[in-house]
Amino acid sequence: MDDLNYGTRNKRGDWAPKDRLEVAPWWYMPLNLPKVLAWIPGYLFPWNAFHMVTTLLYWAYVVPDMATMKTLGWGWALWLYAVNAAAIFVMYGSIELFYYVKRKQGSRFKYNGKFPSENPSDVFWFKSQNIDNFLRSFFISIPLWTVVEVGMFYAFANGYVPWLSWADHPVYLAALVLLCPAIHEVHFFCIHRLIHIPVFYKWIHSVHHNSINPSPWSSLSMHPVEGFLYHAVALWHLVIPSNPIIALFQLNSAGFGAVNGHIGFDKLELTENTPLTTHAYAHYLHHKYFEVNYGGDGLIPLDKWFGSWHDGSKDGDAMMQARFEKKKARLNAKAQ
Ligand SMILES: [Zn+2]
Ligand SMILES: [Zn+2]
Repeated sequence: MDDLNYGTRNKRGDWAPKDRLEVAPWWYMPLNLPKVLAWIPGYLFPWNAFHMVTTLLYWAYVVPDMATMKTLGWGWALWLYAVNAAAIFVMYGSIELFYYVKRKQGSRFKYNGKFPSENPSDVFWFKSQNIDNFLRSFFISIPLWTVVEVGMFYAFANGYVPWLSWADHPVYLAALVLLCPAIHEVHFFCIHRLIHIPVFYKWIHSVHHNSINPSPWSSLSMHPVEGFLYHAVALWHLVIPSNPIIALFQLNSAGFGAVNGHIGFDKLELTENTPLTTHAYAHYLHHKYFEVNYGGDGLIPLDKWFGSWHDGSKDGDAMMQARFEKKKARLNAKAQ
């Protein structure tokens, strides 16, 4: 595919999409109904549908029965960890293998023209972004994802929290499933904004931001505090009346869905004519500029409301620069 039909490439080899990022269409007034309807398939397919399918497969073949999960035990906890780790290894690993190691589409649609392996850096363990990110994912974040999972199933199994059945509450539960991505976005925005406060940033979140040019392994490369807070989104289902399958959907969307912001390509060419849209640009801009796009890509446009939205355009750049100038002036005034 010719990526220049969809965007432009600068002298450094960085590619950027032609179209600016847009928040979900119902936030624009007056409401454009055809646009809202046209948006729905992209909301479900392929990513949310993928998380729904993995969740059903987990529920059918992976999650132990509730009687087992009534008592905490290493056996079932390690089993869940093994499946999570194996699934991430296969999913993230295949994207890494085909697009970063074999470079099957070169740098077509790649935001940053360079590949992380071309830039060894002291900030990473063993000076390698790949090794550092890989180790942090498998030995820090995926274990913490599993801790959240064990805690959540343990609470449901023991009846500590309400468990609504599909038979009694089909409409409410179906609506809750559709709301999960919005819950994710609000939760992520809040914890993410929190760990950008300078003292927390330095202590916690700088680990994730070492990857200025993220690749799939960067997705879950986090400090333990962030690794826990990020996956703790599923614990909202212990607070709101819910059901363990939906809690699992929320958790899997966080774990498997972390890759979306970090793929580094705007589209993956699955075949010559089948591009897979990654939705990675908003979070790519966050890794590039740090203080923009704390949330996702505008399902709930918190960044727009708080003035930190960058839509990838020249206007977005100008707004960001104006904000930085203001901040500088404020800090200077304080210093005097
Ligand atoms: Zn990130
Ligand atoms: Zn950040």
